[in-house]
Amino acid sequence: MVKKICIACIVFMYACQRENNFTPVLNIPPEFQPCVDSFVAAALQRGHTITVNNLIIMYDSSLSGIYCANSNVTSSKNDIQKIISINPNIKCWQNSSQLETLIFHELGHCILGREHTELRLPNGDAKSIMYPDDLTLYSPCAYPIDDSCNQLYKRDYYLDELFDPATPVPGWGK
Ligand SMILES: [Zn+2]
Repeated sequence: MVKKICIACIVFMYACQRENNFTPVLNIPPEFQPCVDSFVAAALQRGHTITVNNLIIMYDSSLSGIYCANSNVTSSKNDIQKIISINPNIKCWQNSSQLETLIFHELGHCILGREHTELRLPNGDAKSIMYPDDLTLYSPCAYPIDDSCNQLYKRDYYLDELFDPATPVPGWGK
C-alpha cells in the first residue's frame, strides 16, 4: 500500500516537473507570419487577448498528398509544443485569403482547441472555418473581371464564428 502511494507520488512529481520544464518554441516562416498576426488582431478585435508564443509552422513533405496542412494537437492548453505542418507538394491556396483560411483553420485546432464541424448555414455555406476542407469560404474572385464572385464580405462572420461558435447566422447565410 505504502509502496503504491510512493510510486503515485513520484509519477505525480515527474508530471509536474515535466510541465514546468516545458519551453515552448516560436518559429514561424515569414510567409505565414502575416496570417498569425491577423489571427491575434482578429481575436483582440473580438475581446480575446491571445499570445502566440508556442508555435512552429514548418513544411513537411511527408504529409499525405490529400492534406494541405496538419496541426499536431487540438487543444488550447499550453503544455505541449504546437506544430502546424504545411504540405509543400500541393498548391493549396490560390490567393492570400485562402492561405489565411488555411492557417486560421489550423490555429483553430492548436491555439483555440476547436474540432472540425461539418455544420452548414441555412443557405448551404459552411458554418465555420473549422469545416474540414474548404479554403474558399471568403475568397475573392480568382479572375476579377467583375466582382460578383467576391465573397470577402463573409470574412467578418467567419472570424466571429472562429472565436465564438455561438455567433448568430449572418444575413447572407439565411
Ligand atoms: Zn482541420
